[in-house]
Amino acid sequence: MTPHVTRHGAAVTRPQREVLNGHKGLVLWFTGLSGAGKSTIAHAVEQRLHEMGCRTFVFDGDNVRHGLCSDLGFSPQDRTENIRRIGEMVRLFIDAGIIALTAFISPYRADREKLRRLTADGDFIEIYCRCPVEVCERRDVKGLYRLARANEIQDFTGVSAPYEEPESPDLILDTHVSSLHECVENVVSLLRHRGVIRDRT
Ligand code: ADP
Repeated sequence: MTPHVTRHGAAVTRPQREVLNGHKGLVLWFTGLSGAGKSTIAHAVEQRLHEMGCRTFVFDGDNVRHGLCSDLGFSPQDRTENIRRIGEMVRLFIDAGIIALTAFISPYRADREKLRRLTADGDFIEIYCRCPVEVCERRDVKGLYRLARANEIQDFTGVSAPYEEPESPDLILDTHVSSLHECVENVVSLLRHRGVIRDRT
């Protein structure tokens, strides 16, 4: 706790912002191996929601690591700190009534569970992009698996660092089986089912 720092109350409340936006604020937290489809799906879902008139924002792993978390590496401690900082930022976006979408490997179950506890009930929607490591490796979108196998990258999730699967995620997307379109529809259906969004046609 930081001494001599007092929180200010907001003159405009989260419920008021949500009324203005026409939907709840929350985070769609995509987790999974590198190449499992987190970024691709998060951006496609964002586009869909944007077209429906929702206020959205995507936080992408690489972008955050170039800025807010540029001082962090890939040790277990740094990975935990990376997710903690992102979690704090995402909470502000939720308070702003935004639908935040995040695409981080976030390999540790404990870190993801901490985020769930930090946020109010229903604000943290954990979406597991499930894909066998062999398929991710074949996709090798950024050429990182090849480097990891050649030992040119250390502590690479799925190769030389662990990934802890979610035990009870809100949604599982099998990206080696379902098409991108199906994955997007599954996310949108879940949001409709939970009353987060309504069609405005
Ligand atoms: P991540 O963000 O998890 O590292 P990316 O989204 O960068 O993964 O890459 C996933 C790759 O897999 C992309 O090249 C994408 O076109 C491909 N892909 C194939 N099927 C799917 C699917 N159903 N959902 C998402 N991506 C898919």
